[in-house]
Amino acid sequence: MTQNKPYLMALDQGTTSSRAIIFDKKGQIVSLAQKEFKQYFPQQGWVEHDPEEIWTSQSSVMIESIVNKGIGVDEIAGIGITNQRETTIVWNRKTGKAIYNAIVWQDRRTASYCNQLKEEGHAEAVVSKTGLIIDAYFSATKIRWILDHVEGARQQAEAGELAFGTVDSWLVWKLTKGAHHLTDITNASRTMLFNIHSQEWDQELLNLFGIPKSMLPEVKSCSEIYCETAGDVLKNKIPIAGIAGDQQAALFGQLCTEPGMAKTTYGTGCFLVMNTGKDAVRSKNQLLTTVAWKIGNEINYALEGSVFIGGAAIQWLRDGLELFDQAKESEALAMSLNDNDGVYFVPALAGLGAPHWDQNARGAIFGITRGTTKAHFTRAALESIAYQVYDVIKAMEKDSGKQTKELRVDGGATANNFLMQFQADLLECEIKRPKIIETTAIGAAFLAGLALGFWESQEEIQKLWKADQSFQPTMPEDKRKKLLHFWQKAVERTKNWEE
Ligand code: ADP
Repeated sequence: MTQNKPYLMALDQGTTSSRAIIFDKKGQIVSLAQKEFKQYFPQQGWVEHDPEEIWTSQSSVMIESIVNKGIGVDEIAGIGITNQRETTIVWNRKTGKAIYNAIVWQDRRTASYCNQLKEEGHAEAVVSKTGLIIDAYFSATKIRWILDHVEGARQQAEAGELAFGTVDSWLVWKLTKGAHHLTDITNASRTMLFNIHSQEWDQELLNLFGIPKSMLPEVKSCSEIYCETAGDVLKNKIPIAGIAGDQQAALFGQLCTEPGMAKTTYGTGCFLVMNTGKDAVRSKNQLLTTVAWKIGNEINYALEGSVFIGGAAIQWLRDGLELFDQAKESEALAMSLNDNDGVYFVPALAGLGAPHWDQNARGAIFGITRGTTKAHFTRAALESIAYQVYDVIKAMEKDSGKQTKELRVDGGATANNFLMQFQADLLECEIKRPKIIETTAIGAAFLAGLALGFWESQEEIQKLWKADQSFQPTMPEDKRKKLLHFWQKAVERTKNWEE
């Protein structure tokens, strides 16, 4: 009886490490094991992982997480998987061996092919079917690259001998010793091959990219008992019952289950996802439309946007300008001032993303006077993170016609209370930082737990989500308007700098 087993295991397969986290019924972490693995940069702009190392790191932390805390394998009710999205693996169905390294989402090798596709006029078909903007980021052009560059790959693919999978599929294949080749709908929706409206692989796109349909995994919902682990992976067979890509898992882990609820992860960059309910909203601001999750027959869509330089702005002040030793010192420095005194920093260090989209923008600091100190630089950098998130949220609101009800946050920079309060002030909405900060892993655990009856219902898991701290807007309207006015003016002046 799975209901009587006390624990669930979440596999959180990220870009730099594999983690296994064991949760109890209260959603608390009982055990956590983590292992980093090697990043390969074979050429400028290329990023690869060794698929075998992804698997061995993941399987070893699974075992560690059990053994370290003396947990019995028979106490684990099931497994949920969440993973780095878009990363592409192609393997031979007979041998189970990958025919090339995993091409990681960050890899830009197919960028010029993507430009060519845009020039040939394919952008509209791609966005209307997949919700995505043609980019090297997504899996489709990476699969094509492997078929074009690995000797014999295309013939093998056409003979049905090869399988493609994102990292979730690869893990399921390994966990079941090749018995199952499947993925979930959120991972499928990031391949640029999946029609998010009809919810099936799109033959026209497969033709465009020259990818045989036989390579593709079966697409499942995010919460169902898909299969069991093979007998010798762990001592007992354990059901695999939940899968979602990392951003979607975090949205579910934050229990943003109502339309208009959004989460932002404040890490190196900022990753925003807003639940838009049953509507797959087409963005007018180049945000992505994506599947949030599918549970039973119910599908939920989301809008997604990212800010390239979030916490990295603070890293730059720390490591580039050496203004302080630790990121957390930025909070006291910012709070040593009552105001930004008119200093604005636009961290367009890698161009500007949504909703401005200017690759030629570059960073700039405005409003410097004789009185400007490092405290002003620091405050301006923290404020810039919040302004950028504000800009994306406003674009999401415009696209979806939904008002942000509340913003739930996670990631390293949410430790900064100044930033959180400033964000609440700008957005004029409540910001909630949860007690359980492992939002991605717990999202996968929730999805698996619902399928297994470990938790009875979404209402039951709603009760597990608790805010650690919430931030209410308090800033006077005229001050807010003035800050936003100068921020917008500063952003305009950074645009189109590179020629
Ligand atoms: P990632 O997963 O992208 O590596 P994390 O979620 O670990 O990121 O967050 C790290 C980022 O948060 C870094 O860019 C760092 O500069 C920033 N950061 C960490 N602590 C603070 C803080 N107290 N105030 C502001 N920024 C912080």
